[in-house]
Amino acid sequence: MALKIGVIGTGMIGVDHIRRLTQVLSGAEITAVTDIDRARAEAAAPKGAQVFDTPKELIGSDAVEAVVICSWGPAHEEQLLDCIAAGKPVFCEKPLVTSEAAAKRVIEAEVAFGRRLVQVGFMRRFDADYRRLKAVIDGGSLGAPLMYHSTHRNASVPEGLYTSDMPLNDTLVHDADISRWLLDDEVAAVEVRVPRRSTRGGELRDPTIVLLHMTSGAIVDVEISVNIAYGYDIRGEVSCEMGVAALPNRPATVISDRFGIRQAIPEDWRERFIEAYDQEFREWIVAAGQGTATGPSTWDGYAATLVGDAALRAVASGTRESIEMIEKPALYGPAPALAAE
Ligand code: NAP
Repeated sequence: MALKIGVIGTGMIGVDHIRRLTQVLSGAEITAVTDIDRARAEAAAPKGAQVFDTPKELIGSDAVEAVVICSWGPAHEEQLLDCIAAGKPVFCEKPLVTSEAAAKRVIEAEVAFGRRLVQVGFMRRFDADYRRLKAVIDGGSLGAPLMYHSTHRNASVPEGLYTSDMPLNDTLVHDADISRWLLDDEVAAVEVRVPRRSTRGGELRDPTIVLLHMTSGAIVDVEISVNIAYGYDIRGEVSCEMGVAALPNRPATVISDRFGIRQAIPEDWRERFIEAYDQEFREWIVAAGQGTATGPSTWDGYAATLVGDAALRAVASGTRESIEMIEKPALYGPAPALAAE
C-alpha cells in the first residue's frame, strides 16, 4: 500500500519533491497539498489530491498518513508541532526551525511523544560521494580527521533570500550538518571572517569564511560564496593524520571544442543533488511507512540552528562564539565522545 502524503508549501522545492514522489519513486502517493497561495497549491496538486486551505486541516486529515513540509522556515515550528501532536511522521525541509527556543520546543514535543517522527532535509547525507567519503573516515585507515575544508558556492540566490544574513542563517546549515556527520562530532564554537565583499551582491554579506571549532579539537573551514556566477560548486576535503580524502569532482561529459576542454558545472542544487534527494525520500518513505523517522533528526536540526545563531553572533562580535547544547535526549542516540584533556 502506498504511503499517503500531504505536502505543505508548493514553491520551488515543494514542486520538485512532488515530482519525485509521483514520477520517480514508488511506495508513495500525494493525497493532499496546501500553500498560502491556494492557486499555487491547485496548480501543483497531482490528480486526485485534495487541496486544503490550511496546514492544520491537511495534517489532521484522514487522507494523510505522513507530511512533507516545504514552506518557509519561520512556519516550520507550528507545522512540526501539529504533526507530532497527530503522531504523523514528517519530513521537514531545512532549516528545522529558525530559533534555538523553537528547536527546543520541537525536541520536547518529540521526546514526550516517545518515538522519532521528524526527518530534516539535510540531503547531502544521502549523496553517494559524501557517503563514500564518510566510509573512508569511519574506516580509520587515514587516522583521525584533523581538518575539513568545505566549499559551498551558488551561482546566485533568489531575490527573496537576498538579506545580508542569508549565507549564515540559511546556507551554512548544510555545511554545519555535513561537518558534524562526517566527523561524528559537535560544533563547540564558531568564528566568521568577512573578506572584501563581492560587488555583485548588493547588501549581501558575500563571500564569507566560517571556522567551526569541533568538540574533538578538529577545525572546519567553510567558504560560502552564494553569488559566484559560474555555477553550483560543492567541494569537501578531509585532512587526517595519515592522508587526505576528498569528494570527487562530479563525473560529467567532457566537451572538447575550439574553446578548450571542459566539463559542465551544475546550475543549482536540484541538479547536483538530484540522486541524493531521491535517496533521501526513498529512505524516508520506508521509515514513515513504519510510523517513524531514521534520517537527520530534530537534534541535528537543533545543532545546525545553534551554529547559524553562533555565526551571526560571531560576525557581530568579531570573535569566537561558543555553543552551549542541552543534554542530548536518549531518543537521538549517543552523544559523540569529548576530546581527552
Ligand atoms: P519557496 O519557493 O518560497 O516556496 C515556499 C512555499 O511555501 C511558497 O509557496 C510559500 O508561499 C509557501 N508557504 C510559506 N509559508 C507557508 C505556510 N505557513 N503554510 C503554507 N504554505 C506556506 O521556497 P523554496 O525554495 O521552495 O524553499 C522552501 C523550504 O525548502 C525552505 O525552508 C528552504 O530553506 C528549503 N530548501 C531546501 C533546499 C535543500 O537543499 N534541502 C533547497 C531549497 C529550499 P508564499 O510564497 O506566498 O509565501
